[in-house]
Amino acid sequence: MYYPLLMRLCQFDENRLGLVENETIRDVTSVLDKLPSRRYPFPQDDVFIAMLPSLRDAIVSAARSSSAKRLSDVRLLSPVANPGKVMGAPVNYQKHLNEVTADPNLHHQNKAHMQAIHQSGFFLKANSSMVGPSQSVVIRHPDRRTDEEVELAVVIGRRAQAVPAAEALEYVAGYCIGLDISIRGPEERSLRKSVDTYTVLGPWLVTADELADPSHLDLQISVNGELRQKANTRDLILGIPELIEFASSFYTLLPGDVLLSGTPEGVGPIQPGDVMHAIIEHVGEMTVHVRAA
Ligand code: MN
Repeated sequence: MYYPLLMRLCQFDENRLGLVENETIRDVTSVLDKLPSRRYPFPQDDVFIAMLPSLRDAIVSAARSSSAKRLSDVRLLSPVANPGKVMGAPVNYQKHLNEVTADPNLHHQNKAHMQAIHQSGFFLKANSSMVGPSQSVVIRHPDRRTDEEVELAVVIGRRAQAVPAAEALEYVAGYCIGLDISIRGPEERSLRKSVDTYTVLGPWLVTADELADPSHLDLQISVNGELRQKANTRDLILGIPELIEFASSFYTLLPGDVLLSGTPEGVGPIQPGDVMHAIIEHVGEMTVHVRAA
């Protein structure tokens, strides 16, 4: 069997590790035996993402001897199990800034919600909000407006401190689709966006070598078959290299850290029973259900 360099890695079912090939998954969980055992206190990185470059051959050889499962038969989890932090770029598409500024239901008179990313910087989402596509978004406060936001998610591969934009992509392990589900309202973003299940990552990690240039990717999301958001990452105010430069000038970025690059215009409310379908070019697509608590 021929394995190209392309690598799409997923976590599925009961924390299995999978290599995705078209419509099938090869179970390569045995590779995780090669991860070093760590002593308490544990480092704040994701050990699998940190070790990924040295595990590639083992992943390919494990895939060769594993039987194929159909992608449609497994439950997809977040492709990163233990991110040390999830960073969000709040307003990073000009047309989204325009729609927020024009709509009191989106900005709630909060000046910090009406500024581009240069002024507002990043917010952090609680790691406990993270799920994979099969786990659904569970609406915790049905009385509050809750919106979908589709974003290109960047997974950091190497420790990065004060990295210049020109070198920033060397620190990326890969990419996935991120949904930054958000309650609208006057509270801090870190509260409104950190509800359990409000950070959806999936459907898998596309390694950075497969996707050398993240700056021209179409992204879109539909809700119940109706297109809501459609844009291209070329419209980002700060591109991926600049985001990494900006973030790493404040935080030390560690393997497995996730950077949500911002959402384009077209955000709207979701409610239990809705079905979201998100697509990012060269990354993949995923269906995520919205459920009542
Ligand atoms: Mn967002």
